[in-house]
Amino acid sequence: MRYQGLLGRTLRDAPAGADTASAALLARAGYVRQLGAGIFSLLPLGWATVRRIEEIIREEMERINCWEVAMPVAQPADLWQETGRWAAIGSELVRFEDRGGRDMVLAMTHEEVAADLVRRELRSWRQLPIQFFQIQTKFRDEPRPRAGLLRGREFIMKDAYSFHSSLEDLDRFYEECRLAYLRAFHRCGIDVIVAEAGAGIMGGHGSHEFTLLTPAGEDVLLVCPTGDYAANREVATCAADTTAEVAGQLPLEEVSTPGATTIDQVAAFLGIEASQTLKCVCYSSGGEVVLVVIRGDLQVNEAKVQAALGTSDLRLADEAQIRALGSVPGYTSPLGLTGVRVLADPSAFAANLVAGGNRVDTHVRNVNLGRDVVPTLVADLRVVVAGDACPACGTPLAEQRGIEVGNIFKLGQYYARPLNIAFLDDSGEERLVEMGSYGFGVTRMMAAIAEAHHDERGLRWPVSVAPVAVHLVALGNDPAVRAAAEQVYALLQAAGIATLFDDRGETAGVQFADADLVGAPLRLAVSKRTLAAHDGGAVELKRREHDKDQAQTVAIDALLDVVRGELADLALRVTVQESGDTDGVV
Ligand code: ATP
Ligand code: MG
Repeated sequence: MRYQGLLGRTLRDAPAGADTASAALLARAGYVRQLGAGIFSLLPLGWATVRRIEEIIREEMERINCWEVAMPVAQPADLWQETGRWAAIGSELVRFEDRGGRDMVLAMTHEEVAADLVRRELRSWRQLPIQFFQIQTKFRDEPRPRAGLLRGREFIMKDAYSFHSSLEDLDRFYEECRLAYLRAFHRCGIDVIVAEAGAGIMGGHGSHEFTLLTPAGEDVLLVCPTGDYAANREVATCAADTTAEVAGQLPLEEVSTPGATTIDQVAAFLGIEASQTLKCVCYSSGGEVVLVVIRGDLQVNEAKVQAALGTSDLRLADEAQIRALGSVPGYTSPLGLTGVRVLADPSAFAANLVAGGNRVDTHVRNVNLGRDVVPTLVADLRVVVAGDACPACGTPLAEQRGIEVGNIFKLGQYYARPLNIAFLDDSGEERLVEMGSYGFGVTRMMAAIAEAHHDERGLRWPVSVAPVAVHLVALGNDPAVRAAAEQVYALLQAAGIATLFDDRGETAGVQFADADLVGAPLRLAVSKRTLAAHDGGAVELKRREHDKDQAQTVAIDALLDVVRGELADLALRVTVQESGDTDGVV
């Protein structure tokens, strides 16, 4: 394609709010333009890159016999009510009424519709397994859109769904999909770490995230240096460091703590450690107040609280709600409060803690969970941090930031139960289907690749996803140069090598700087000097990853072979890396 007509000029400066390298470079290089918070247009180069990523994931899904479909974006709310997600999901889910006053949603994911399609089709075990995918725009009214395409409100996702007659068969396909994802990520030129993840609002048995480790990411992984454990902080667990000691429990004792409303103030006032206090956090969920208790030196992991309560609707309770319980802000604990659910982290069972007295300026010593408060539910609710012990081997865990680019879920019968997705097994018995769901962020991937492949001059795409393979620059307005550049362009076109042809006649500095910013793997330049270098004319060829002094002059006669060789060599390096890193995956 010619530069002339290309929508999206390069920008000297990143637009305001471009808070990561990928957001800045994709905007500066003319790949995307922002329309609103978390809402972007993909310009020709951006769309071409997305299409190449889509092609890779499409090939890998088809390789595991997944068929492509297209499901509706605007959906009647009924199905979401049937699965309970209409109530369980907060305002990320966009709801509206159609002209007839019927509730509708903009799909943020497609488990409901996929499950409904299968429920209507499925009769016999002979039809199973069934698996299909789509590549589609999703809308989620994210509370904090950021980092350009990394967290948009509108974004493109590849989502796949599978249905099985047994958990074993789900396990089999889940593993095939895990390997297909690893192949896709490696073909796109990024290394991912596979981490345990939370099922969140998806429900189910288990989930893994594919994460590109980079400081630009929002996700925090807890990783064991020995390699035996990696998990998203939302679900990471650690080896327990508290045991409930029944022996040695002392009697309750009220103590005056004027003005001490925080753990630190209470600990300082009483001359004790934060770990000798009981932290109580008051949440409101669906209008109900829920108390979460944990040892005072630890933090509450809200994702775990949401999972324990089975809802994503969770916020801090307000003062009025706390007072309505019979308590006061800053001095709350479950002691003596009735009719309120208490969720306890196991650490809250440490002996003889100091807890709030539910009256101003008052705390109580020697609180022992089990004896003084009987929790409604005991669950792991703590934020695991660097230094906590690996649950597998006890080694201190490390924290690493990353971008979640894919997420797969073993949903089991989570949707089959409410939707009654049943089939007759080989003995004629009716059974529920086992379901899996598999997400892959396509536009997020483009940004993640940009995050992993750029330098100070601009983007540096792997050949496999580059919007064009060659950036051809005609330098100056000399007619012979122009004619030779046209000839080279025609050659490349005829050979099916995607080329961006810059014949704008700007200065070499501008055209080269733009080529670096746009980031095609190869740059070809035609100038008076290169034409003079060889009888039939020549061009300068430079890899994007190389410096100026590594450029080579190539005769136009030999050009196609050399370009093909360079592209194959660049592509090969991704493959070599792929087979090296994925342990026999390919
Ligand atoms: P996150 O935790 O980052 O909000 P999620 O776990 O809610 O993501 P999933 O429901 O697992 O997302 O969606 C599958 C994939 O879709 C994710 O792995 C990610 O690659 C992509 N994705 C999800 N939300 C966004 C978003 N707001 N912008 C861009 N891509 C997204
Ligand atoms: Mg996810």
